[in-house]
Amino acid sequence: MTMKKRSLIVVLVTLSILLIATPFFNSNTTIATTSQPLKSFEEKAALVSIHVKDRTELDKLVEAGFDLTEHVHQHEDGTYDVDAIVTPSELKKIRNQGFEFETVYTKAEAEQRIAERKSQVKKLDQATSSEDSITILRANFFENYSGTFLYVEAKTSAGAASNVALTATWDAGKGTEIGSGGEATLRRVEDYGEYLYHQLLLPIEEIPHQIKIESNQGGTSTATISEWLGEDKPDPDKPHYVSDFVDHYMDSTEITERIESLAEEFPELAEVIELPNQSNGYRRKAQALLGDNTNDSVVVTSNDWGHEGGNDISISLEKPEEEQAELSLHIDGQEIVVSLATDENGNVSSTASDVITLLNQEANELVSADTFRGAEGDGIVTPESSVQLDDNLDAPDSISRDPFTVKALRIGKHRDGSKTGVFAYSQEHAREWVTPLVSIETAERLLRNYAHDPETRKYVDNLDIFIVPTVNPDGAHFSMYDYNWQRKNMTNHCVDTDFSDPLAQDYWGVDLNRNHSVGSVHDGYIGASTNCTSAVYAGPEEVSEPEAQNLIWLAEQNPNIKFAMNIHSYGGYFMWPPGAYTENRETLPRPTAGEEAYFWQASETILDEIRDYRGTVILPSRTGPIPDVLYSAAGNSADALWYDYGIYAWDFEVGADIWNEEQGRWQSVGFQPPFEEGHAEAMEFANGMNGLFDVAYQYAKDKKPPKSKATPGKGTYDEPVEVSFDSSEPATIYYTLDGSKPTFESDKIQIKDTREGAETLMIEETTTIHWFAMDAAGNVEKHYNPDGNGNNYNKAKITIK
Ligand SMILES: [Zn+2]
Repeated sequence: MTMKKRSLIVVLVTLSILLIATPFFNSNTTIATTSQPLKSFEEKAALVSIHVKDRTELDKLVEAGFDLTEHVHQHEDGTYDVDAIVTPSELKKIRNQGFEFETVYTKAEAEQRIAERKSQVKKLDQATSSEDSITILRANFFENYSGTFLYVEAKTSAGAASNVALTATWDAGKGTEIGSGGEATLRRVEDYGEYLYHQLLLPIEEIPHQIKIESNQGGTSTATISEWLGEDKPDPDKPHYVSDFVDHYMDSTEITERIESLAEEFPELAEVIELPNQSNGYRRKAQALLGDNTNDSVVVTSNDWGHEGGNDISISLEKPEEEQAELSLHIDGQEIVVSLATDENGNVSSTASDVITLLNQEANELVSADTFRGAEGDGIVTPESSVQLDDNLDAPDSISRDPFTVKALRIGKHRDGSKTGVFAYSQEHAREWVTPLVSIETAERLLRNYAHDPETRKYVDNLDIFIVPTVNPDGAHFSMYDYNWQRKNMTNHCVDTDFSDPLAQDYWGVDLNRNHSVGSVHDGYIGASTNCTSAVYAGPEEVSEPEAQNLIWLAEQNPNIKFAMNIHSYGGYFMWPPGAYTENRETLPRPTAGEEAYFWQASETILDEIRDYRGTVILPSRTGPIPDVLYSAAGNSADALWYDYGIYAWDFEVGADIWNEEQGRWQSVGFQPPFEEGHAEAMEFANGMNGLFDVAYQYAKDKKPPKSKATPGKGTYDEPVEVSFDSSEPATIYYTLDGSKPTFESDKIQIKDTREGAETLMIEETTTIHWFAMDAAGNVEKHYNPDGNGNNYNKAKITIK
């Protein structure tokens, strides 16, 4: 496994563990109280694993607004390792607080990923730069004990790219039309990463005469089908299923193009929905930071976006030759020339704040200026010649700087709202590069297996599937081209704060999985911050961000959506609401016992599918309601979907730990693992999505009411009794104990406690229990109508002597 190559710098600190009294803010986001060199604010972050002794300490890290990953490993002794992104100076603080930690993943490794990706993209561009040519290597039929089979091998000149798809159509015998016999996508065959050919093996009814292979790159070829005469016939027992459509980490521009081309290729089955709220855009104001120390430095920011002229502005601080010169400024085209004041000896006497005042008065058509991090600005400035303002964005010009239209791919034979909706969305967090691959792989599998795979056809014909592969395109571009640890979007809400300087730019943005309105930090829930530089910044208000508004819009527009999967990385978790708690660990309302049972039951189907790919087991300790297995995430999107829209909303954390043979322990995979690992994660969690489609399909078909039973039932008892309810399937029990008719307003059977089963009712005196059960699909026991006049609910009189 490639994981072995990872260099582990193990730094163990054995101080006694202290509680964290002050938040760990990055040196990059601290106020300049004394004059310090600007250099000390330039630090490269790394991913480290911090050892914490218990849940309370973990919550303190969460409350401190620390940049925690979604990976928390609990040891058998009850202690935890939590991965976090930290700078060297933060590490120092962690060490001083007595925490143990180790560096897992450094910036250098991320750079390696980017280099890998670049060379792969180049290879793919070459492969797909022109129409491909197709060679049909074999086109045979054969018969065996179980039927007649079609076997085809074809090779495309663009085979290096795994998004190149070959589709076969064939006739139903000589003289019939091509296509009348059937249609299927060929499966790509590789050996040690090298493309060999595409292949097809399917049972057929009629023996075809001619076959035609077409590529989505334009190539086409036909052949006559002959009988397989040799021995060694392919094994027809494996159903033909095509998968594996991702071969490199993709940026949001590529991902969006991919779903567009899929919709174009499969107009009958898919369409693109443009979400109404454009992102702010992969863009920044151009800035310059003049000076060497916090007190003598000047932060200059362009009025225009960098790409719209800000990057053309430059600024000079000139020292005049004369003594007792006055501070003055003139603008020469796009160059701002400040002539500094001098004293009687001819030395510069202008302070940073003098220069700032002047810039704000006389150059305000081009720029604004400020001190660094709230410094006094009373230091004397240093002359500088022609410093260019820069937006510091390194993506190639092919990445648009304009606001981005986030798109959903809607897949289904009937996309009219009549079918049960499933909503999958990924990359709320920019740095989670594997997650959009899960979405793309899922979409391709649905579309390319539709023609010949009955399972897939079942999903596409009966469900209405919405996939948003990249919720946060601006952040994703920034993560791929500028700062790989970027988690948030790119909207800068620090503009009028002390953190508006360019050294804080990696800390701007809103955490899109903390910006929602349910269980928000603004309502007192923890795991989000109101500080604009925090990794879990919730935004200036609830649902302030266009990217978050898009998800809500989609749920609102499509009330048929009943299931959602919020795809994150890493850690190998499978979770559901509630997702947030207050500092006293009061969670949002727990689902009822019946709903909780349904979440668990569905999880089994989904986790089984994941395991099928390479044996990855999502641990029971990482499956369950979020507060039970991870940490509070105030204002997350799954909670918004569940509590406001009644959608069964899960969170995937793809990327389960990998067993490290050499070290004899589990090791985390990180946000941007070597592609080989990222690819495997995409494959197994795309499997998991099929599990979700299966759950949704069963739901859609479920018209059968549940049956329930109270134990002990009616009767006469000597002592108080504890009554429990069983149902034929996961179902919510609504009940009354006062003889009234049970309705949807009645009490519901809840779960007893964290990770426990359903509560029981303690009956101490003679009582008649009235109740009914309702399953996840909304079927009510005995077709009882709780809003009507009927009385066909369950009754049990418990007489206590
Ligand atoms: Zn995430």
